[in-house]
Amino acid sequence: MRIIRYKTASQPPTYGWVHENRVGSIEGNVFREFRRIDATIPIEQVELLPPVQPSKIICVGRNYAAHAREHGADVPALPLLFFKPPSSLLAPNQPIHLPPQSKQVEHEGELVVVIGKTGRWIKPEDAADHIFGYTIGNDITARDLQRTDGQWTRSKGFDTFCPIGPWIETEFDPADAILSCHLNGQMRQMASTRDMVFSIPHLIAFTSSVMTLEPGDILMTGTPAGVSPLSSGDLVEVTIEGIGNLSNPVIADSS
Ligand code: ZN
Repeated sequence: MRIIRYKTASQPPTYGWVHENRVGSIEGNVFREFRRIDATIPIEQVELLPPVQPSKIICVGRNYAAHAREHGADVPALPLLFFKPPSSLLAPNQPIHLPPQSKQVEHEGELVVVIGKTGRWIKPEDAADHIFGYTIGNDITARDLQRTDGQWTRSKGFDTFCPIGPWIETEFDPADAILSCHLNGQMRQMASTRDMVFSIPHLIAFTSSVMTLEPGDILMTGTPAGVSPLSSGDLVEVTIEGIGNLSNPVIADSS
């Protein structure tokens, strides 16, 4: 099942589901008990929102060996965690703003895990019980600020630096899916999710040994090699086989 959040001219933000390019609303709590209303609205007639409202966005650095190498870094011995703020979330098709503080903003296409059930000290073998589904993310990064700051909060945390969507796919198998990222139609990144250094069950166990995972929290699982800079006027698209396509234009922040 494909779960979205959306709004229309007459309807405030709500969860919905997509069936054959038509949208139906969802009544109840998507993480507990809910009821699907018939999918009748053509998807072009709704405004897609980020498909979930996380209390935290947990990211993993250098989780593909080839990406660590392209920055001259080693693969870490343990997962390297960092946060992006929920204020950085961006809906599908909405513009990524290039901030004036950076001269080198880059895309990082990533598979995103959506947590469905509260947990702490989750064992790897129990991780599947805590996963609601999967979506696509783009961990936009001001690479120059990442290098100069040391801490990554600023370089990863600008508004619009976390596009996710277009939906949560609840039936997805993350074992060996092709992830690609195209910039203006040209392929920049392509890898299989089987190339992750730390598997998703391991990441959930590791993360939940630090902090309580809550329904709606998201875990961005790292990016493969091929990251490259964005310019105003670009279109960046991240595709994951079995989920779909996340597309965002890029504009300069005029402020
Ligand atoms: Zn990343």
